[in-house]
Amino acid sequence: MLGNLGTNLKDALKKLAGKTVIDRVAVEELVKDLQRALLQSDVNVKQVMQLSQTIKKRSLDEEPPKGVTAREHVLKIVYEELVHLVGGKVDVQLGRQTILMAGLQGSGKTTTTAKIARYFKKKGLRVGVICADTFRPGAYTQIKTLCDRVQVNCFGNPKETDARKIVAEGLQHLKDEVIIVDTQGRHALEDELIQEIIDLNEMTHATHRWLVLDAALGQQAREQARRFHEAVQIDGVIITKMDGTAKGGGALSAVAETGAGIVFVGAGETIEDLEWFDPDSFISRLLGMGDLKALAEKVQESINEEDIDVNAMLSGKFTLRDMYKQLEAVNKMGPLKQVLSMLPLGGMEVPEGAIEVTSTKMERYRIIMDSMTSTEMDDPTVMNGSRVQRIAMGAGATLEEVRELIKYYKMMKRTFKNLKGGEKGMQRLMKKFGR
Ligand code: GDP
Repeated sequence: MLGNLGTNLKDALKKLAGKTVIDRVAVEELVKDLQRALLQSDVNVKQVMQLSQTIKKRSLDEEPPKGVTAREHVLKIVYEELVHLVGGKVDVQLGRQTILMAGLQGSGKTTTTAKIARYFKKKGLRVGVICADTFRPGAYTQIKTLCDRVQVNCFGNPKETDARKIVAEGLQHLKDEVIIVDTQGRHALEDELIQEIIDLNEMTHATHRWLVLDAALGQQAREQARRFHEAVQIDGVIITKMDGTAKGGGALSAVAETGAGIVFVGAGETIEDLEWFDPDSFISRLLGMGDLKALAEKVQESINEEDIDVNAMLSGKFTLRDMYKQLEAVNKMGPLKQVLSMLPLGGMEVPEGAIEVTSTKMERYRIIMDSMTSTEMDDPTVMNGSRVQRIAMGAGATLEEVRELIKYYKMMKRTFKNLKGGEKGMQRLMKKFGR
């Protein structure tokens, strides 16, 4: 997501890292590079100018705190100002609430409604969805199918043309803790649509009004955000299709227009592809610092009830059993690329092959592991040649396969150790800055 912006920002910072002195010329060059990167990603011109002026001024005026180099200080300022640009952190309450979903047709509103329903359901809340999209044919069937899949209640009436009536009935019918109202989108912001959403907002006494914006929208995103915000005071934004665009800056700018923060980010068509938005993590990821927190959360979610301690994944101290469980978890996490994008690839090596293990291979590994003793499972590096031979025989495997498993284990162990170093390094840096 935001691939180009990330690459360009990283390049700009890399250039800064290569400088021997951080003087006015270096700062000015950095600011120019940042401006170019942000403008190319569709961030609004006025915001880019404001942001870059602030970065320049702070970098030149502020003294780096003790123990912090000038370079780290500038990096911190860039980081903080970018976090500021994408708005503050929005805490999602886990209690009784009604959420009104706003957005134009095609923005991904219906898909997002189902993703959010799944999110609350997974947090243990009872969820009901009202389909108030009377404009788009098939809207009800679409949301009903998705709701059935995540096992949440769904209320709608495809024959009724008045959204207000459906919502009134739905509110009587559904007794769930979280009610999500999927409203109609249409192609353009017509007055009628705006009036309808104002009415629905009043009727439902909505706790939250979340605006769904397509990341690919570019500059139009701001206008949409403004109109919806004027009508119902948007208090959270969800940016969808972040997987599909290398830009996305327009949607980020739109967020600033509402003054509301980003609640979630949609990064894929399937119902699991919803990420809770944490501005700090997002910007660290964008700047190539990696985001171990999001990765840990994702792993935890995918392994669910299984007894893996996520911290073990990052501890570097693990057994062959841990490795197998982790492989299973990673396999379940889905798109490899998405997982990799969360890793701090910046300075550290994460060999792509380290994570891409096919299920066939995993089955072979499992059979080999079944032939090992408990001590060998704790630390397979203790095995000598004859033990390897014994295991291969027992498992009906070749010596090569057993050696490959051991080699793979060593590589994973090293990788996770590095990750831990990366996390610590990052934490150290943040601590220095008092965050
Ligand atoms: P609505 O008209 O706003 O309700 O939009 P839909 O929920 O029907 O979504 C429109 C299209 O966008 C569908 O093809 C969805 O599968 C797709 N879509 C929604 N969210 C995402 C996302 O985060 N990533 C990608 N790649 N596609 C998405």
